[in-house]
Amino acid sequence: MRRLLFESLVRRPLTEAKPAADDAMLGELAASLDRLARQRLGRSLSIREVDAGSCNGCELEIHALNNAFYDLERFGLHFVASPRHADVLLVTGPVTRNMREALQRTHDATPDPKWVVAVGDCAFDGGIFSGSYAVTSGMSQVVPVDLYIRGCPPRPEQLLKGLLALLEISSERQG
Ligand code: SF4
Repeated sequence: MRRLLFESLVRRPLTEAKPAADDAMLGELAASLDRLARQRLGRSLSIREVDAGSCNGCELEIHALNNAFYDLERFGLHFVASPRHADVLLVTGPVTRNMREALQRTHDATPDPKWVVAVGDCAFDGGIFSGSYAVTSGMSQVVPVDLYIRGCPPRPEQLLKGLLALLEISSERQG
């Protein structure tokens, strides 16, 4: 027993090493995103996350953008509680039948200009739920989608790159 106690004092904790992320690259991505949002909108970007029937895997990666490691809010990008305050709808899941109307109403409640970003393979074509009686076969059948970020689930860096690409494309269109 004493040996066990001693070992537990000197042994390293059994936790995984933190993910290897290039902090400078993340900072650059988020700063570019904030700069483009201010050019396009005159302020920082507000994001409303909508779970349209996901397995929660995509949500975990989206939530990671707000954790102490990625800390998206330090660049002025933030998640909002209402679609009425949002510029971007970040939608996950295959859009279940139960969520179809809720997603349409959320889309209607979001002021223009607005963008819809479909996150994950499920949002693209139903993913692993494709063919189920309970889901639609792709988010574009329910609301217009401006950008797909593929992956099952996509990593936080991919989410940032996707949002950046969205703003770059819309700035080019605006001229
Ligand atoms: S894309 Fe993958 S992680 Fe995301 S909701 Fe679908 S099954 Fe889950």
